Amino acid sequence: VDGGLEFRPPRLQQCIVAALNLLLNFIFPPSCAGCASRFAIDAARRVCDDCLAQIERIEEPFCVSCGIPFETQAGQSHLCGQCIDFPPHFTRARSAARYRASADEQSVLASMIRRHKYAFDQSLGRALAECLGDELPLPAGGYDLVVPVPLHRARLRWRGFNQAALLGAAIARRMNLPLDVLSLVRSRHTPPQTEQDPDTRRHNVRKAFRVAREDRIQGRRVLLVDDVMTTGATVNECARVLVSADAARVDVLTLARAL
Ligand SMILES: [Zn+2]
Ligand SMILES: [Zn+2]
Repeated sequence: VDGGLEFRPPRLQQCIVAALNLLLNFIFPPSCAGCASRFAIDAARRVCDDCLAQIERIEEPFCVSCGIPFETQAGQSHLCGQCIDFPPHFTRARSAARYRASADEQSVLASMIRRHKYAFDQSLGRALAECLGDELPLPAGGYDLVVPVPLHRARLRWRGFNQAALLGAAIARRMNLPLDVLSLVRSRHTPPQTEQDPDTRRHNVRKAFRVAREDRIQGRRVLLVDDVMTTGATVNECARVLVSADAARVDVLTLARAL
């Protein structure tokens, strides 16, 4: 109301932050998280234009529920056969991009996520957030809180961070929503899902999650966040426990969709 009361950070403080950033960039020269090409020393970005251009965005038509893109380019979005036969517990799932991880066709996103998962490099969280693109595939208005798919504590201790939580933090910031990393917990360690068939995956995630703080979930519209969605068994099981804790609805947003 009163323009004179607008908050401005002190000049000196801004200068100190800028100087510290420059010093850090000097010690650790900024480079692209996808191709490792060098950036200018004052660069704030983590992914170069070439790598961003290689990311394949998912566009309509896709399944209105699980978001899987249809191969035919013509036609409208509708429910896929899988969602008709086995309706998921989430209302809708959307991913920003395709994820290809076959040996001969390694996408920028796949190598980035692989490094992010195993290289103990938290700055890749910012790189993944840049890969989401300017426009998120779900509207910001429809949610009360962002909940990342949790890691088991043993895994968290070993790796040091949860990439879904880093991505969730970036999405929460963009959507101006609270991030909740405490209400949904992984109660059982599950084996890595990469090499298993869909039935084994569904079986493995059963009872792997629980809601630790039901009062935080009750009546809330939850946006569940993960880095990659493969069969959807993990996010569907998370959605199941959130809905049984009386979440008003659960939508899913992942950076990538393995196809
Ligand atoms: Zn690059
Ligand atoms: Zn579907």
